[in-house]
Amino acid sequence: MSEEGCGRLVIVSGPSGAGKSTVLRRLRSECELPLQMSVSATTRPPRPGERDGVDYFFLDHEEFEQRRQVGDFLECKEVFGRGHWYGTLNEQVATGLNAGKWVILEIDVQGALAILDHQEFNPITLFIHPGGTEELERRLRTRATESEAAIAARLETACREMQFMHRYQYEIINESVDQAVLDICQILKDQKETKPCS
Ligand code: 5GP
Repeated sequence: MSEEGCGRLVIVSGPSGAGKSTVLRRLRSECELPLQMSVSATTRPPRPGERDGVDYFFLDHEEFEQRRQVGDFLECKEVFGRGHWYGTLNEQVATGLNAGKWVILEIDVQGALAILDHQEFNPITLFIHPGGTEELERRLRTRATESEAAIAARLETACREMQFMHRYQYEIINESVDQAVLDICQILKDQKETKPCS
């Protein structure tokens, strides 16, 4: 069967520091499904090593606002209350789905809820977390890319985000990356079985 028309939208949220990016990188190389990350746009500056068009499309506020006004975003939100905007580009989703890909959106809870409110895509929703806020704090500090104030803000956001976990279909506790990758891959394959290509 052709892959065309078989694409699915997969939404992954969870507090930053939960290990989402690592799990998703491994998932893409180890799970035998046509997975593709949607590259979001953001107004936050690139971190060392991040590349424009690969990790994010890095836009200044004016460009971001222009794109928002012309309706380029499926959803866009100001994350963490730090003045940085993030948005899912319609084009990223449409191109992926049309090519039969399983398009992964790694987005915050507000963005996920906005997409769920559309009731359009029937997304598979996963919430990844490390098991508790103490573990989260330890991971954020180990990463050491952020100031104390930024870590405190992320922890506060994490606690807020955890309150919306029940809106997601699957909860993944990332104690072991290997296990998390296996679990998510199995969940996606089961979804493929239960809802084959139409
Ligand atoms: P970071 O700055 O660490 O790359 O990402 C910070 C947060 O922004 C993460 O929780 C991530 O899920 C969220 N995020 C990334 N892209 C998007 C997006 O397109 N929309 C929304 N709503 N959140 C996003």
